[in-house]
Amino acid sequence: MTVSQKPVQIVGAGLAGAECAFQLAERGVSVVLHEMRPVKKTPAHKTGDLAELVCSNSLRSDDPHHAAGLLKREMERFGSLIISSARRSAVPAGSALAVDRERFAAAVTGALEAHPLVEIHRNEVRTLPEGDVVIASGPLTSKAMSNAIADLLGGEHLYFYDAIAPIVESDSLNRSKLFWASRYGKGGADYLNSALDREQYGAFLAALLEAEILPLHEFEKNLFFEGCLPIEELARRGPDTLRFGPMKPVGLTPPSPTQSEDRVPYAIVQMRQENLAKSHLNLVGFQSRMKWPEQKRVLRMIPGLEQARFVRLGQIHRNTFINSPVHLNAFYRLKVRPLVRLAGQITGVEGYLESAATGLAVALYLTLERQGVEAAPLPFSTALGALARHLTESNSSHFQPANINYGLFPDLAGRVRKRDRRRSYTERAAVDLEDWAHRHQTAVAATPAPLASGAAVL
Ligand SMILES: Cc1cc2nc3c(=O)[nH]c(=O)nc-3n(C[C@H](O)[C@H](O)[C@H](O)COP(=O)(O)OP(=O)(O)OC[C@H]3O[C@@H](n4cnc5c(N)ncnc54)[C@H](O)[C@@H]3O)c2cc1C
Repeated sequence: MTVSQKPVQIVGAGLAGAECAFQLAERGVSVVLHEMRPVKKTPAHKTGDLAELVCSNSLRSDDPHHAAGLLKREMERFGSLIISSARRSAVPAGSALAVDRERFAAAVTGALEAHPLVEIHRNEVRTLPEGDVVIASGPLTSKAMSNAIADLLGGEHLYFYDAIAPIVESDSLNRSKLFWASRYGKGGADYLNSALDREQYGAFLAALLEAEILPLHEFEKNLFFEGCLPIEELARRGPDTLRFGPMKPVGLTPPSPTQSEDRVPYAIVQMRQENLAKSHLNLVGFQSRMKWPEQKRVLRMIPGLEQARFVRLGQIHRNTFINSPVHLNAFYRLKVRPLVRLAGQITGVEGYLESAATGLAVALYLTLERQGVEAAPLPFSTALGALARHLTESNSSHFQPANINYGLFPDLAGRVRKRDRRRSYTERAAVDLEDWAHRHQTAVAATPAPLASGAAVL
């Protein structure tokens, strides 16, 4: 295959597109960066700045042993523009890295505008460009681009909202109150179930009806689909609606009489394995818009979940993303059209940090390809690699976006005490990342092009 030296076309200059453009340009690859704002607005962005943060101003934990802290350090290892701009515009936020959003976006915009290898075009891209392309158009991808992607992948593989069920750490559950089974015994005993008696269900329902709910943004008003309603909305429709929906008790009999005198539960909550390591379970069908402290309070009323630790709480929000396990390979290329790469939230990662990280990874791979070097994927044991692992190895039939977390990483070898686990993950990641960087020096090392911004280049 002839390797093109034409500029890479990047669609969208949000967190992923901006990082990707900078990384490519710093390594000598010229880029045309297309951003439709301010000419065409999205429902959430307010400015024409590149890398605008649409909501919170936090890039999550900066603790080096937290998965988000590890991801930051790995990005810094490759001279990340997003992380260096965040550090320069940081505001006090405890152990999190939070920023002054205007200064942050100005730093990113300034670095890209000043870069000799980056051309910024303020236009909406309505069809997929030819040649090397990175689609980084984000959760609010314009309609025309969404249609172009749907035409390529099939409409059923492009989603427009997240209905995220809460996820709990499995070792925080009281197993004596729970039982493994599948409905009507079909398949393996794949679900961990909690049985509620009439009284427990009544109390749970009452708490749901009283809980505080997040208000909807104007552009989210048509968000709910009948097949995917939040549990509190189901509760409002009638006292038994949940028992005919996600809390249906049929086909599931606890192994011994629990709360119910005749062993037929009044309602059931099902939990399904969420990650490959089986350390996380999701509460099936429990998407919710309750405020987060309320979710914790209400969900801990479920038998067995009294002490539950939550990895993620329920959400429903607007989001455009593809079924990556079906369509992406570990280099973020579309299997049906390999010159098209995807980066950012549209791949099914969740969050500012994770979006930027995928933009960085795409740029490393593209640089290697332009240099004629056959790349190995970033190891799954690193935070950068674990994101790709989620996108390529998750079960495609219930794929949902994810933040970086240790549940996405391969298991640690041998038995590691709980309090040592985070340190072990970070130590293993550091060794494996250095090994990868060593084997791919050309992408990592300085390029013939002069450095525009003094970013760390290794
Ligand atoms: C309402 C909302 C709130 C969120 N809040 C948070 C939060 O608080 N914390 C968090 O970590 N994550 C949050 N997210 C999720 C996500 O992390 C961010 O949206 C993040 O900005 C995603 O990065 P990205 O680069 O993929 O997309 P974006 O940062 O959105 O960048 C995509 C860019 O592409 C442009 N674009 C779209 N279509 C086209 C086109 N056809 N041609 C040219 N340009 C185009 C857009 O204008 C935009 O600038 C939120 C998402 C939404 C929708």
